[in-house]
Amino acid sequence: MFAPFKNEPYVNFAEETPRRRMEEALARVSGELGKTYPLVIGGKRIDRDKQTNSRNPAKLSQSIGHVCDATEEDVDHAVEAATEAFTTWSVTPPEVRARYLVKIAAIMRRRIYEFSAWMVYESSKNWLEAYADTAEAIDFLEFYGREAIRWGAPHPTTFISSEENEIRYCPLGVAAVISPWNFPLAIMAGMTVAAVVTGNTVVLKPAEQTPVIAARFFELLESVGLPPGVVNFLPGPGEIVGEKLTGHPGVRFVCFTGSRDVGLHINQRIATHQTGQKWIKRGILEMGGKDAIVVDEDVNLDAVAQGVVDSAFGFQGQKCSACSRLIAHTKVYDVLLEKVVERASKLTIGDPVHHNNFMGAVIDGDAFNKIISYIALGSSEGRIVLGGERDEPNQEGGYFIHPTIIADVAPTARIAQEEIFGPVLAVLRADNFDHALEIANGTAYGLTGSLFSNSRDHLERARHDFHVGNLYLNRKCTGALVDVQPFGGFNLSGTDSKAGGRDYLGLFLQAKSVCERW
Ligand code: NAD
Repeated sequence: MFAPFKNEPYVNFAEETPRRRMEEALARVSGELGKTYPLVIGGKRIDRDKQTNSRNPAKLSQSIGHVCDATEEDVDHAVEAATEAFTTWSVTPPEVRARYLVKIAAIMRRRIYEFSAWMVYESSKNWLEAYADTAEAIDFLEFYGREAIRWGAPHPTTFISSEENEIRYCPLGVAAVISPWNFPLAIMAGMTVAAVVTGNTVVLKPAEQTPVIAARFFELLESVGLPPGVVNFLPGPGEIVGEKLTGHPGVRFVCFTGSRDVGLHINQRIATHQTGQKWIKRGILEMGGKDAIVVDEDVNLDAVAQGVVDSAFGFQGQKCSACSRLIAHTKVYDVLLEKVVERASKLTIGDPVHHNNFMGAVIDGDAFNKIISYIALGSSEGRIVLGGERDEPNQEGGYFIHPTIIADVAPTARIAQEEIFGPVLAVLRADNFDHALEIANGTAYGLTGSLFSNSRDHLERARHDFHVGNLYLNRKCTGALVDVQPFGGFNLSGTDSKAGGRDYLGLFLQAKSVCERW
């Protein structure tokens, strides 16, 4: 019924037309900054006095918008509205639900520059990173739409005489969708629409740092006539709104992407049965990483250096997939380090509203302080060979931290073990390939990893022994595409849900076996 899925292509901002369209979108969006956005429960817009002022991380005086903070009572009402909407939405045919998604994708595609411009302002993404975020959101919409139809179609069972047997996949109920700020459109929209297209209803709690792009997405859902209550927009602090939601007996499952500690806390919370709760809550929990690029001897070090710099410093290192450890074979260590430093030292940094800035600001003051304290620690745990500087935040400026590389770091050092989530790369020396693999696997995480090697034996070993959810051979460790590299981590990186993959929607469904004897 739909054309086969294909990924949304990127544009080249070196070309005149995309550059002009992005400049126009940024100008248009700048005229819309500073508005106030309400909560929306069961289709009703609700204002609250307490609001979050979302500020441009690169220009703190600039308000992106004011978004109302939900209260604990609002959570109760939102779960009620979602429960009511579930009675009709859960029996709406998958094809109909899928058409909503494809329609939303079509509108988002027409407005791709505008959605991207909002993220340049609100999350300090550069143009291409912002465009890629919107493109991924479109991919999730298109892909999950098609997938929902496949999951809704008949599934094979073994035939036995005088019976008809079928397996059907049913929606679960009310989802709490709790999203992070670093893919403020793609991950927030992806988790929401995966729940919706499988017949569940949603209470959506976006990250405090990026609630405006979520509000703009929610307005798009309303504009295509998604029935009231199917998605309820409930921004607010994680410790209040998120905490209440995950413990609510009416919530059937939690779909979360964020940090390890919050993910583990949610895991514990949903395991506790609440009075009146009729189910064991399910958790789809995707968390942090300490991702490594391993470099063997005898490889093209220029290509490796470029892959490392892109993975470590793209979006200021604030991707769960970012390379935060470079593990180099001792034979190539010194030359590679020099090449990586040389490339990273040329990166441009500043407000990404200007296309020539590759790196923008880090997301907020907490992130800024955390990263700075890790850099201070790094000066005792290794040798700072690049960066370490930051601009002192002020109203006209923002939270800028320069690309930082720390060499000669021991595998057990804290900066080699803990997720920093900023533009900081630890470089570690390995005696040989086995040693490199041991270091790579030596953290509690297991999200992404890369191996650059020319040895068939080592490449094959890595397929088995490099223990990460997303392994890349001879390329960088960021930039997974929907239905090309389904995404999710091992160990404390999460439940390995493989977002953007063909197993994903199964997590939002429960199988029912039906047998009729003739
Ligand atoms: P975070 O854990 O601080 O916040 C994520 C969400 O959880 C936010 O909406 C927040 O308000 C909410 N929250 C906070 N406390 C809560 C509580 N007690 N109960 C319920 N919800 C609560 O993470 P972040 O800083 O927004 O995002 C960055 C983190 O996300 C990094 O660790 C990064 O690696 C990870 N991440 C992982 C993936 C992945 O696919 N594995 C993708 C993107 C980001």
